[in-house]
Amino acid sequence: MYFYRMAEPISFLQIKNIIKSYSGTVFSGIKEVSLEIKQGVITAIIGRSGSGKSTLLNLIYGLVAADKGEIIFEGERVWGPDVKLIPGHDQMKMVTQQSDHLNLYAKVWDNVASLLPNTNLDYKSTKTTEVLQQLRLLDLKERRVTDLSGGERQRVSIARALVSNPKVLLLDEPFNQVDASFRDNLQQDIRRIVAETGLTVIMVSHDPQEVLSLADELVVLKDGEIVETGHPQQLYQNPQKLYTATLLANGTVFTGIKAASLGIVTDAKTVMVYAEDIYADKNSIENLCIIEAVLFKGFYEELILNNGLVTFKAINLQPKIFQVGDQVSVSVKKFLTFDESFT
Ligand code: ADP
Ligand code: MG
Repeated sequence: MYFYRMAEPISFLQIKNIIKSYSGTVFSGIKEVSLEIKQGVITAIIGRSGSGKSTLLNLIYGLVAADKGEIIFEGERVWGPDVKLIPGHDQMKMVTQQSDHLNLYAKVWDNVASLLPNTNLDYKSTKTTEVLQQLRLLDLKERRVTDLSGGERQRVSIARALVSNPKVLLLDEPFNQVDASFRDNLQQDIRRIVAETGLTVIMVSHDPQEVLSLADELVVLKDGEIVETGHPQQLYQNPQKLYTATLLANGTVFTGIKAASLGIVTDAKTVMVYAEDIYADKNSIENLCIIEAVLFKGFYEELILNNGLVTFKAINLQPKIFQVGDQVSVSVKKFLTFDESFT
């Protein structure tokens, strides 16, 4: 009898026990990170400024050499600049906030097409058209880059990255300089490209607005270490760490003791209440608070409330019914507890 053993499927991209420390008196860099990146999805690495996001992205791409550990892409080691003459993996492309690689005085078309060889002019033209279309730049193809808005330039940078059909697109805070509506459109386009082409995207950001609606997988990074991973909704609704909650959501953090003054009963050290989970009501007398500030936010208001012991935030979806100095009753619909203390 013969037994056939199926080969283990090769994982797409593995980060194995990577360490990278920069010299200095306090630690900075990546402490020890292991992570599996899935193919064909958008993974977002989120963390405060200085948490090591860019370093991790550069390690994955092979721009920075690790002190220890390895990156394995489709079964093969990704080599850093200490080994490889031209740093950066051939199957990956990186886009950052700076678009200084763009030729400002050349047309959009030429900025993108110039990355393809002249050996097949039909392909060059077809592929450039396809990528400009995917990024909604076709109407701007004759425009010089210098005459484009910041958001449009960022689209050109992404088009340049995609024209050579990379398997992985790495984005380092790509929407930072881009206004909100432009960002939302670009996010949708990136989602569509991923769905249509099977592209794998790894992006880093400090901004929940950039990642919550875009990412399939979130990786939370703190001081060079992964704190937790999961789907955006799961991490937003049920974070295991206070750091994750304060990174992703707008709300107030209390000690367990002070939280009792809002009617929250817990023996946890720390409580966080998201602003959208506190309801203010003028027609009740329980849990009375004073409105210290009403911050206009467009379609909603943020209320700053004080009950004599703690100050906290609430979202009010019916603007103009409350005024500074009003006495209101608050109820807490949901709260999160943590066993960590906060300072
Ligand atoms: P993030 O992208 O999350 O803001 P970085 O990866 O850029 O964080 O940086 C992480 C930490 O490493 C920071 O404390 C930063 O100052 C330090 N760092 C980054 N690059 C270098 C470098 N080339 N030399 C020395 N320290 C660095
Ligand atoms: Mg960075």
